[in-house]
Amino acid sequence: MIACLDLEGVLVPEIWINVAERTGIDELRRTTRDEPDYDVLMRYRLDILDREGITLPQIQEVIAGMGPLEGAGEFVDWLRERTQVIILSDTFYQFAQPLMRQLDFPCLFCHRLEVEPEGRISGYTLRLDDSKRRAVRALRELNFRVVAAGDSYNDTTMLTEADAGILFCPPQNVVDDFPQFPVTSDYQQLREAFVAASANEL
Ligand SMILES: [Mg+2]
Repeated sequence: MIACLDLEGVLVPEIWINVAERTGIDELRRTTRDEPDYDVLMRYRLDILDREGITLPQIQEVIAGMGPLEGAGEFVDWLRERTQVIILSDTFYQFAQPLMRQLDFPCLFCHRLEVEPEGRISGYTLRLDDSKRRAVRALRELNFRVVAAGDSYNDTTMLTEADAGILFCPPQNVVDDFPQFPVTSDYQQLREAFVAASANEL
């Protein structure tokens, strides 16, 4: 078995929301719920960073101050003692790194920012479209049983592709639209859901 976990909303807070709060730039609160075209949203964010003269090291400092969600570190330790864990995220390596350090560097598949030598973020490279779902599919083709957990719409294709999918603290509209997935609201419930979905492998 392999466990696949979303990052933001499951182990760490929403990164852009925190960057908006800590920099005081409200425009950075815009999310995929406001602008469903991810490329348009990212260009908008990068234009704001340019305008404000904010570089990658400054954002990394903000992110380092965020920390994982309370109990997330203990949950990941518990899971990694029992099975291999891969975090599948739509964030960027350079953003996740300060948080990965606080989670003892679990395996992470995500995207990459293009950064100029002086720290200006000039663009980004997506690994693949629909990369969470395609990672789960590839793991299943390698004959792993995959149990996946996530909190939001961008996780539902990976939860569907997995042998078992679990929702963690999801918004009500996701619960309503995907009633097939068990809903958990704290790490103890998430542990129990992983055990229940593991086919006696945990
Ligand atoms: Mg999430």
